[in-house]
Amino acid sequence: MHLELLHLLERVRSRNPRVVVLTGAGISAESGIPTFRGSDGYWVVGSRNYMPEEMATRRMFASDPEEVWRWYLYRFGACRHAEPNLAHRALVDLEATLGDRFTLVTQNIDGLHRRAGSSVERTHCIHGDAAYVRCANDCGIGVQPLPSINTPKIDAELSPETCERLKCHNCGAWLRPHVLWFDEYYDEENYRADSAIRAAARADLLIVVGTSGATNLPMQIGTLCLRQGAAIIDVNPEANPFAVIADRAERGCIVRGSACENLPEIVKHLAIKPE
Ligand code: NAD
Repeated sequence: MHLELLHLLERVRSRNPRVVVLTGAGISAESGIPTFRGSDGYWVVGSRNYMPEEMATRRMFASDPEEVWRWYLYRFGACRHAEPNLAHRALVDLEATLGDRFTLVTQNIDGLHRRAGSSVERTHCIHGDAAYVRCANDCGIGVQPLPSINTPKIDAELSPETCERLKCHNCGAWLRPHVLWFDEYYDEENYRADSAIRAAARADLLIVVGTSGATNLPMQIGTLCLRQGAAIIDVNPEANPFAVIADRAERGCIVRGSACENLPEIVKHLAIKPE
């Protein structure tokens, strides 16, 4: 660990800090789940390549729910077979040390933080969780576990049985993945957006891990923390807007490397009790 980071962590630690950790797809890359910006992001329908920004939309779901479900079930298949990694586990340890002074805000819908053991209360899944569904017509069934369905083959249509399982038992409409689509707005009820902002507004330290900063609320969290003078650490092998924010922060540090290589070490230094 480089000296600048070590000093920053020592200074922050001595003040019983409130810590917000903001994670993106990069933290799950070492569990084998492709990020959106990587080359695996495309989805081919007939002769056309669709980007996630087109597939993961209310508009696409309204015009072709089966295709959107095929895409989710295929991608979610990769999440189900992936295991939480050292970085996910390090955050469980950090929560155990900090208790109510810890908040995890994740953009990931893969459920790996939950499966690693991060608590539901202190984890705000601001883009939802692909292991859950709700009625696309909002008929009031609430959020429910995704019915058990085998991952479809990449080139296969959904079977009539699968389509039936993806219908609301109450009103018969399609169920939808419990995830925020690109043409929808954040809210508190489904995505705990206000809670995430509230936590950020009180943070003494923001640690950002593996996000390209392409979405709105995470950037708001970054700029809020910068304005209020929180210490900011960005862990990412590549340049990204949070590194720019960390660079501008009075107490900021850019860690150019992978989540698994760096987060456990950072957590270890934060978890040591002050003398
Ligand atoms: P992104 O795909 O836009 O960016 C990933 C970032 O992770 C990049 O900056 C990359 O440099 C970094 N990265 C890659 N490998 C890393 C590693 N080993 N350690 C640390 N960082 C690494 O991801 P995003 O910013 O989270 O935005 C994508 C959107 O897509 C989000 O809304 C998210 O909900 C969704 N998404 C989720 C998953 C998931 O749940 N695992 C996967 C893909 C996309």
